[in-house]
Amino acid sequence: MAQLLAQSGLPPLEARMLLERVLGQTSAWLIAHADEAPGAEAAQAFAALAERRRRGEPVAYILGGREFYGLEFRVAPAVLIPRPETELLVELALDRIPADAAVRVLDLGTGSGAIAVTLAKLRPQARLTAVDVDYAALSVARANAGRHGVRVRFFCGDWFGALSGETFDLIVSNPPYVAAADTHLAMGDVRFEPQRALAGGMDGLDCIRAIVANAGAHLRPGAWLLFEHGYDQAEACAALLEAHGYLEAQTWPDLAGIARVSGGRAAPIGLTVGRQVGRIQT
Ligand code: GLN
Repeated sequence: MAQLLAQSGLPPLEARMLLERVLGQTSAWLIAHADEAPGAEAAQAFAALAERRRRGEPVAYILGGREFYGLEFRVAPAVLIPRPETELLVELALDRIPADAAVRVLDLGTGSGAIAVTLAKLRPQARLTAVDVDYAALSVARANAGRHGVRVRFFCGDWFGALSGETFDLIVSNPPYVAAADTHLAMGDVRFEPQRALAGGMDGLDCIRAIVANAGAHLRPGAWLLFEHGYDQAEACAALLEAHGYLEAQTWPDLAGIARVSGGRAAPIGLTVGRQVGRIQT
């Protein structure tokens, strides 16, 4: 096995993940059998997967899965591959969802459903709603909800388009936020991912602007809006939150120390209206 892995020309971890899949074995088994050679059929199957990877296809798409927050999620090219930094958003959301209350939580732009399904799994009393504009993404998200045995209400729609008149105790989102001209979009795994899930207009903030501007009407007074953003967008996000009258607006760093999630609380109704009107018109 060790020889086959070394010959693949792939980083060791990636090569092992592909071989584990081909053999249907764990990494512990692979280590214990490092000196053995796999059968011809397995070697051939491995070579085919290794070739796809060498051509750039993300490991998560080749395997059709990725772990997020300790849970295994199905992923496909219709959805963004869940990222470790998004676990911060999940943690902040969990801090705000009591374990014993049927609070209403909304995930905007759910993609694979990683955020909504994780929250539903860890807070079984919560009532999750998840929306995405892309049907193909929603079918992946539905499969993930089924896989983890959780109930999530899924809607196809543009941000709040399918949610007229509904209010929530918490709204979370990992929207597209990369600037359209960012060269990052054409590099590595990212170039295989749906651009629609990544690119957020000229400065990357188009979706965040839409979410911050419209979430107020769907949040109960005092409820939190939390969203992920790019490494250089914290200031712009704080300004947006303030302009729209959110209270306690703040930003949290991810494990790499990068300002990654921002949010604020919906103001009591009278206060929101007063500030929103004054600020937005200027
Ligand atoms: N963090 C992702 C990236 O840099 C972008 C995710 C997103 O746009 N929501 O590729």
